Amino acid sequence: MLQEHPPEIQAPSAADLREAARLRAVERFDILDTPREASFDRITRLIKTVFDVPIAIVSVIDGHRQWYKACEGLTTNEVARNDTFCQYTILQDEPLIVADATKDARFAGNPLVTNDPHIRFYAGVPMRSRDGHNIGSVCAIGYAPREFGDRDIAILQDFADLAMDELELRQHASSDALTGVLSRRAFIDQGGRAFALAQRQRFDFSCIVFDVDHFKSVNDNFGHAAGDKVLTGVARQCSATLRDVDIFGRVGGEEFAVLLYAGRNGALESAERLRGTIEAMRLAHDTDEIRVTASFGVAAFDPSTGNLQELIERADAAMYRSKHAGRNRATAWNSSESDQARPRRRVLKAGQIVFNKRMSTIDCTVRSLGEDGATIDVSNIAGIPGQFVLAIRADRFEAKCRVVAQAERRLELAFD
Ligand code: GH3
Ligand code: MG
Ligand code: MG
Repeated sequence: MLQEHPPEIQAPSAADLREAARLRAVERFDILDTPREASFDRITRLIKTVFDVPIAIVSVIDGHRQWYKACEGLTTNEVARNDTFCQYTILQDEPLIVADATKDARFAGNPLVTNDPHIRFYAGVPMRSRDGHNIGSVCAIGYAPREFGDRDIAILQDFADLAMDELELRQHASSDALTGVLSRRAFIDQGGRAFALAQRQRFDFSCIVFDVDHFKSVNDNFGHAAGDKVLTGVARQCSATLRDVDIFGRVGGEEFAVLLYAGRNGALESAERLRGTIEAMRLAHDTDEIRVTASFGVAAFDPSTGNLQELIERADAAMYRSKHAGRNRATAWNSSESDQARPRRRVLKAGQIVFNKRMSTIDCTVRSLGEDGATIDVSNIAGIPGQFVLAIRADRFEAKCRVVAQAERRLELAFD
């Protein structure tokens, strides 16, 4: 049984708040769970060759795991954060060098040291964003103890800077490298100017947000390259459907947004047209034919819309309603909704699953959060009870919840 009256929720520690800010930085780069890419694969290959080590990794760390953007020498894509060396690297500004893990109290009992693959040597450099957050690490790992001199450290530092530069450059790019439509940043820049104009001149102005449905299963069933083709196709077809004056961008992995000079009904019609276009697409893949759908949210500018961000958030909330109502549909934001439950929004927060009379906790990453429930990712769903308390320490948030759906590493929660 869950405790009826949990003790008063403690104030977050300085470390909790630092971690929350770090995760906001990770979220801005929007890189988690994206496919492998040549520019990062090259870095791990170089590390492996230059240092003659069996394992090289470029990784990003979220609430509960270390996720590999590129990796040489391991077949997995991620590992529970608690088991990693890199969790220590991202807490410091300098490189972390472990010449012999069996002689380091932090790592001597680590399962990756005591069992397969019997790690002995580790050298890791934090990947530090320009605004000062260590979003991940670049590391070299070996099976034998080894010294790592200043020159080696300088080289590894260069590789970490290279990986970080690559990510930073994308943030500043005006077009999205895969699809050619506006990048998130350019969309916000151009959109902000259009919003100001519409506000001043009282033009009709609306936002459409759409997210490809069950896109993860496209990647899982047909591979990431096919997933990329789907995204390119969606962007191309939608661009052709939209008008030249519309502002169209890729604002997330499989999420796009449009700003258009139209009122609510015009925007809903456009969304419906885009929905039909995507539904009608056929992508040949070997002997298969890939089809996808997308869920749409529409929000029209009105005097209560303070800024572009708010307009996008409303469209986003409406998009979530489309998802919940069964996907492949368009829903308009309704002003009466704002008084009701806080709509679901995408987040990236460190959370804890608390159960067993508060004696057991499991780390998780909270991916969406609303008044009614949350979506969380974990390293392993085994051993997680059907009911527990979800805690987000940095927000002083706790809610009793139950699991309503589960996939491999993702749990859908409803708050009681
Ligand atoms: P839902 O209908 O709820 O939106 O389900 P979903 O599977 O689309 O949503 P989820 O957020 O679980 O998965 C999105 C997936 O999109 C995960 C990620 O691997 C994939 N993805 C993100 N960016 C890219 C990309 O650039 N290329 C490819 N191929 N996949 C991408
Ligand atoms: Mg999706
Ligand atoms: Mg999505």
